[in-house]
Amino acid sequence: FDTLQTKELSEFEPLDFLRDRHVRFFQRTLQVLPERYASLETTRLTIIFFALSGLDVLDALDVIDRNTMIEWIYSLQVLPTDDQSNISRCGFRGSSHIGIPYSTKGPGVLHPYDSGHVAMTYTGLCSLLILGDNLSRVNKQACLAGLRALQLEDGSFYAVPEGSENDIRFIYCAASICYMLDDWSGMDIQKAIEYIRGSLSYDNGFGQGAGRESHGGWTYCAIASLCLMGRLEEALSRRELDRIRRWCIMRQQSGFHGRPNKPVDTCYSFWVGATLELLDVFQYTNFDKNRSFILSTQDRLVGGFAKWPDSHPDPLHAYLGLCGLSLIGEPSLRKVHPALNITQRAFQHLQQLQQAWKDSTAQYSTHTHIIFVSLPS
Ligand SMILES: [Zn+2]
Repeated sequence: FDTLQTKELSEFEPLDFLRDRHVRFFQRTLQVLPERYASLETTRLTIIFFALSGLDVLDALDVIDRNTMIEWIYSLQVLPTDDQSNISRCGFRGSSHIGIPYSTKGPGVLHPYDSGHVAMTYTGLCSLLILGDNLSRVNKQACLAGLRALQLEDGSFYAVPEGSENDIRFIYCAASICYMLDDWSGMDIQKAIEYIRGSLSYDNGFGQGAGRESHGGWTYCAIASLCLMGRLEEALSRRELDRIRRWCIMRQQSGFHGRPNKPVDTCYSFWVGATLELLDVFQYTNFDKNRSFILSTQDRLVGGFAKWPDSHPDPLHAYLGLCGLSLIGEPSLRKVHPALNITQRAFQHLQQLQQAWKDSTAQYSTHTHIIFVSLPS
């Protein structure tokens, strides 16, 4: 009995959140990475996104040089060549690994292996928004053409034009890109919804595709995509939504795990937590136990969070651990937008931009209308 009591007490032992250590962790992530990250070079933009958005959640963006970072991200944009022959390969690449000369302006340079990657386009646009850029140098039509080329007949997306795994993850990236660019011509929404519906498993979570095992990460991608499309309640019945809510709530042990009988892992405090938030039932989970688990994976020496206690922190778990804490209202953190996975502050910046785009289109159409009516008949 004594051991049980001690265990329960230690589970609720208040742990402090080491904000400054986390700021330094993400600063280091932006400067130099350990050798074991070498294989992630082709997707470096994603790691940069974790660090930038992490600093934004921590309200510490003042520690970086925004303009240099914005220019570097624009240098990763795959721009159309003069003859537009690579238009279906546009988007953002993950780093400069392919050896295209550094340039932030078009026209693009033709290279047989150069193309955007849907997750890099998603994290690139998010990073630009976080940095306060107005996306004016994003070639939207090229990004959307690149996106259309990645969608398969079954509604899912490849990550790159050469083909790759195709699943709900890349539907989520595509939906986020269309949402941010405020233009859904980049995808066939109906087909994507059908793929998502087909991925709903017998136990009411979503798998990578039809007939696959339910998983917290895929479930997040499914629900967040439908929310971004504004089609959640149309695509799923009330009964289905209630069963999905139940499947997600059952993922809480102390923190959350991604699948039944798996150990809890920091990142699911965001993947499952944000899904529950989008489904309006996150308040029925136990915040104290969730917080204690996340803080048990905090590295008290170098900052960041690991997937499990006593393991090494990494940028993904460090960022998603912060987002998990933000969802339960950790006082010193900015609120996170659960569907786009950026801060509410960055999301408001996007809303202002989209309003400005709408206003300028309205102005333009009034203008053309005036020209039209003043033409001699
Ligand atoms: Zn994880």
